[in-house]
Amino acid sequence: MFKSLINLFFPPVCAGCKSFIGTNENVICTVCRHELPLTNHHLNPENEAFKKFYGRIPVEYASALLYFHKKGMVQELIHNLKYKGHEEIGTVLGEWYSDDLKNVDILNTVDAIIPVPLHKKRLKERGYNQVTNFGLAFSDNFKIPLNNTILIRKVYSKTQSKKNLLGRTEGIESVFDVVYSEEDKDKHFLLIDDVLTTGATLEACSRALLKIPGAKISIVCMAMASW
Ligand SMILES: [Zn+2]
Repeated sequence: MFKSLINLFFPPVCAGCKSFIGTNENVICTVCRHELPLTNHHLNPENEAFKKFYGRIPVEYASALLYFHKKGMVQELIHNLKYKGHEEIGTVLGEWYSDDLKNVDILNTVDAIIPVPLHKKRLKERGYNQVTNFGLAFSDNFKIPLNNTILIRKVYSKTQSKKNLLGRTEGIESVFDVVYSEEDKDKHFLLIDDVLTTGATLEACSRALLKIPGAKISIVCMAMASW
């Protein structure tokens, strides 16, 4: 009732194209859903996201839902999710992708979902970690816990995105750390992130998690850069 009253005065708009969306649509309109550039990685375990980590770190599985094009609709979605407070975009993408990935056998052995962490100062600035809701949707669908305490970002970096863009990855090894106990050993962790570009951040996160004896890593992202 309250929601419909709100909608009467502030009709919801699509997070992709800003057109008004109907009551049977959720966050992203039907037109945008059909136009989103899907990778279909879930149909191929040897996909390009998985290949990004070849020779870098041992990964059980890796995939991304969408292609990220500069100035494209996915960039708009991620921007709204990250900087405009539209956390619900993460939920929608997570519900969508966790349904697709339920058919991937190797992911049925995942024990915990680990969002790539923000530095506590960044978390305070933004108010939320933009991948948490994406992870919570997986947690709900797969019936496994989300763990946002085991992996820590130690370094606050103002120019993280610029650094990644330039492919300068030196020093990133020491950005993350793990805090674990006996019961975290021999676990399969599903690392989740928004956009996979060089993979340097996810590689550094994986290296930190691999300090836990018996750890296995899989990686799932909302999108993957197409350049
Ligand atoms: Zn739309």
